[in-house]
Amino acid sequence: MNRRAGRSPSRADRPRQAPRRPRAESHLRILHRVAETVSRTLDVEDVLRTAVEALTHVTGHEIASLHLLSGDGRTLELRGERGMSARLREVNRALPVGEGLIGRVAAAGRTLQLARTFEDSRLYTPARAVVREERILGFVCVPIRCRGRVLGTLSLGRKTRHRFDVHEVALVEAAADQIGIALDDARLYSETRRQLEELRRAQEHLLRAERLSAVGELASGVAHEINNPLTTILGQTHLLLTHPEVTPHVRERLGIVADEATRAARIVQSLLLFARRSTPERRPCALADQVWRVLELKSYELRQDSVRVVTEFAPCPAVLTDDGQFRQVLLNLVQNAHQAMLRGAGERLLGVRVWSAGGKAYVEMRDTGPGIPDENLPKIFDPFFTTRPPGEGSGLGLSVSYGIVTDLGGRLRAGNHPEGGAVFVIELPLEDTVA
Ligand code: ADP
Repeated sequence: MNRRAGRSPSRADRPRQAPRRPRAESHLRILHRVAETVSRTLDVEDVLRTAVEALTHVTGHEIASLHLLSGDGRTLELRGERGMSARLREVNRALPVGEGLIGRVAAAGRTLQLARTFEDSRLYTPARAVVREERILGFVCVPIRCRGRVLGTLSLGRKTRHRFDVHEVALVEAAADQIGIALDDARLYSETRRQLEELRRAQEHLLRAERLSAVGELASGVAHEINNPLTTILGQTHLLLTHPEVTPHVRERLGIVADEATRAARIVQSLLLFARRSTPERRPCALADQVWRVLELKSYELRQDSVRVVTEFAPCPAVLTDDGQFRQVLLNLVQNAHQAMLRGAGERLLGVRVWSAGGKAYVEMRDTGPGIPDENLPKIFDPFFTTRPPGEGSGLGLSVSYGIVTDLGGRLRAGNHPEGGAVFVIELPLEDTVA
């Protein structure tokens, strides 16, 4: 068989042929277009499209394809093409590295050039029939590299008898180099974006912590001052309530005073807890047990309001928590979910999940209430933020919970479920991962 196939000479030992001027100019124009796109945009798709389009103008009648390596490095994925028939496109969509012509170029990292491609025995088996039928003759495939690593391949095919000459191969190689630079720029850009995003999140966290501690100091002072007179009011009211001379009418009024004073005392207790920055008393505890206890505590009220509770407890190793404080967090979340669902007309379902993964334990609470409006999401952990009517909400439940979970070395996150309702997730380090 008269096959004029083989590797193209390397860039260094290729014969120095003087290019014919018109073609050299058009090649320069193509390269200029690719380079210009690379410097203009960080959009990889834009670069790939421009490069493939520009290269199909090498001599006309050409087929161009661009493959990039998949994440696991085993497959070449078709990311751009021009001039391919539907069948050719289909067989080229995903190519195994190391097999066929393109797969071999990616594995060896060397340019491959052929003159009678459709006859080549190394053709990728699923592509053989279509390459033969379409009588693809000339073929050149070059690796796209960056920092010594192969990232993909750039290939040109041609149905005319002219094999790709040395200048054309040089052009495809130069274009592949440009694409390699573009891919690296895009990777650096997305890495920088990710780092910036992390920095922004850390800064937000710090701001919130600072705000919490400032409010905490103020709150603890005020709470201490209010606590004493409140205790006196409550004590005196209860004494009066037991007095035999109190008329039913006055007793009823005193009852209201006692109820309101108790409510005020609860708020003051929350404030004190919120302000207290003492180290919690940590003991190993089973999260599922704590969740059960809180759900049981609330079960009567939930049943009364037709709230169905669905639990899903996966095996979860112990976490170090302060039981009392942790139950308070759970109670706040259950109470918030309960109140949120009372506002809606649909089914009332409280889903509670416990699981562990990657050295962390998780408790998720999902309700079928109205969810949290996007504009409120960044504010709900702020002290005194509440959307409840005056006199009903203190706006302290979530900020207290946030402080407790953070002190335990964990995280408390809030969001909305795509199907509606709010989702709260507590994340805590497992006992054996705590230093
Ligand atoms: P409070 O319950 O006293 O308002 P929180 O700190 O517990 O204080 O909650 C702050 C706000 O967060 C609530 O007023 C409400 O707007 C929102 N919120 C909390 N939980 C939910 C939930 N499950 N669904 C919808 N909104 C919620």
